[in-house]
Amino acid sequence: MLALRQLLRRSVHPQRACHTGIATPVTSVADAVRTRDLQALDLSCSQDLLCRNLVCEKVGEPCICRLASVLERHAGTLTWLSLSGNGLEALPDALTALRSLRYLDLSANRCWTCAASRQAAQVAAQGVGEID
Ligand SMILES: [Zn+2]
Repeated sequence: MLALRQLLRRSVHPQRACHTGIATPVTSVADAVRTRDLQALDLSCSQDLLCRNLVCEKVGEPCICRLASVLERHAGTLTWLSLSGNGLEALPDALTALRSLRYLDLSANRCWTCAASRQAAQVAAQGVGEID
């Protein structure tokens, strides 16, 4: 099993997406919802991940509410994903269902200690390719 730190070492900087032959990353949740066959999603340091769900205990803080539904919607096509710099304390289970994922950046979040998040990252890492 891969440790989360190993996974992060394999991650790529968002600017490098243009070198991978993958479409230009979409950078907002609203655009991600609208886009068909979404391949690349860059939500690094994103205001979109601040929770606006009034019934969620994390309202006003970084949260995976909206992210989870976006990942579920694009589970079959998403190949490139950056969630870096959001201070997330957990990762959505939907991360484990990204069948096409090749690049994943989870750096600068706060999900080090959550066992469920670590497991999600490990499962996702199985689909993460090496960077040349
Ligand atoms: Zn929330």
